[in-house]
Amino acid sequence: AKRRGKNHHQLFDSTMRPVDECQFQLEMDLRRAIDRQEFCLYYQPIVCLHRGTITGFESLVRWKTEGDRVISPGKFIPLAEVTGLIVTIGEWVIDEACRQIKEWQTDGLWLDSLYVNVNVAGRQFSQAGLVDIIIQSLQRHHLAPSYFQVEITEGLMMENLDSVVRQLCQLQELGVNLCIDDFGTGHSSLSRLQLFPIDTLKIDRSFIPLHSQVEKDWELVKSIVNLGHSLSMRVVAEGVETVEQQQKLQELGCDYGQGYLFAKPLEQEAARELLYQLKIK
Ligand code: C2E
Ligand code: CA
Ligand code: CA
Ligand code: CA
Repeated sequence: AKRRGKNHHQLFDSTMRPVDECQFQLEMDLRRAIDRQEFCLYYQPIVCLHRGTITGFESLVRWKTEGDRVISPGKFIPLAEVTGLIVTIGEWVIDEACRQIKEWQTDGLWLDSLYVNVNVAGRQFSQAGLVDIIIQSLQRHHLAPSYFQVEITEGLMMENLDSVVRQLCQLQELGVNLCIDDFGTGHSSLSRLQLFPIDTLKIDRSFIPLHSQVEKDWELVKSIVNLGHSLSMRVVAEGVETVEQQQKLQELGCDYGQGYLFAKPLEQEAARELLYQLKIK
């Protein structure tokens, strides 16, 4: 085994090889997971900071393996993006979110003001037919487009501008709201931000200071909130974990919050229970 190890060193980059093998295995597993439909969606509430009420949910994909092991998207979405498997997974996510909303609606748990945010990767835009896929899912489940929102990341603004803007405009015309996700972590230029028909801006969690005392850090949050408002966007803060943060964000005029303080991403049944509580309130 030792000798093989040595040859191994000569033939391959010793640091890359194990990673490649690992990635390859993961890719095989991921393909099988798609065939077996081993994915599910969790739902994290988005809360109005002024009223303290739930206004919607973000859907977050999980991979539930045979042994009921739950794998978080951070472990497989990056590879899914590189391999293009995200297109198939993403299609499932879109349809499953629609199916779920319809189920809640049929069961009398849904409110007309609620919505579910769905993450859509850049790769899904470069593949023809994203808009049709969304339209088909909405129609299949007889759903109002206003219940469905699309989250895109800043990276999308950097590629294939014409095609992306065209698709986003089609979605907007349809009545699907658009959010720019993880705002501040990418390299979007402000002039481009204006080109996009976006109505909600989500401030990335990394910008939300841990303590309210650090005024300088909050200045940055404040300017992002103001930027969003000046572009007539609603502003959501991600990763709200403490009451301190909630209060500070409210003070700065941030509209919505999402984070462990309010709720972790919830399994379908737990989200249903929450909707039920909302309904009987
Ligand atoms: P994201 O879109 O920024 O989603 C928010 C992530 O922050 C979620 O991680 C959520 O669980 C986590 N989070 C929420 N509140 C808090 C908090 O208070 N504190 C901390 N520390 N974390 C919080 P998750 O579910 O592991 O998802 C990770 C990323 O995977 C997402 O980041 C998104 O980029 C991607 N992702 C998830 N679902 C999908 C999907 O259906 N399609 C695509 N393309 N990407 C997805
Ligand atoms: Ca997101
Ligand atoms: Ca985000
Ligand atoms: Ca984030």
